[in-house]
Amino acid sequence: MSIKELLAGLFPHLARVCVDQVICSGATIRLRARTGTTEAACPGCGVRSRRLHSHYERRLSDTAVGGQELLIHLRVHRFLCRNDSCAKKTFVEQVPGLTVRYGRRSLGASAALQAISLALGGRAGARLAGHLAASVSRMTLIRMLRRLPDPVVEAEGPRAFRTAD
Ligand SMILES: [Zn+2]
Repeated sequence: MSIKELLAGLFPHLARVCVDQVICSGATIRLRARTGTTEAACPGCGVRSRRLHSHYERRLSDTAVGGQELLIHLRVHRFLCRNDSCAKKTFVEQVPGLTVRYGRRSLGASAALQAISLALGGRAGARLAGHLAASVSRMTLIRMLRRLPDPVVEAEGPRAFRTAD
């Protein structure tokens, strides 16, 4: 296995971005990355657009690497929606497997913190997350827990009224 294959296996969520710089400082690793997107679908109407409006830098907290906090400084594009009847005039591209709208964490980091919040709740979860180089407040964990959808429960009639055929 080559180093390139190892990196692709360790960071599959970064496959769609170009990493320009890696900066290690103290217990934090910062990646400067950008997308190469030239077209994106408007989340309001679904119409694809190539008309760039601007770009800006998002900061995402990712899952820790080697016990070090990983922060991604990701340059993303804002597009103009081409559909005149759409309420959205501009929209920001999302990177599949990495970003969600308004999210400050990668999808992987969000999933890990959701699992921690489900298992341990706020205070203990925040302590564990801190040990895993993914510092988060207990209130953030509790908010994540509250946003999770309710589990699906199969509707089942009372067993006492069931009859064997
Ligand atoms: Zn639109």
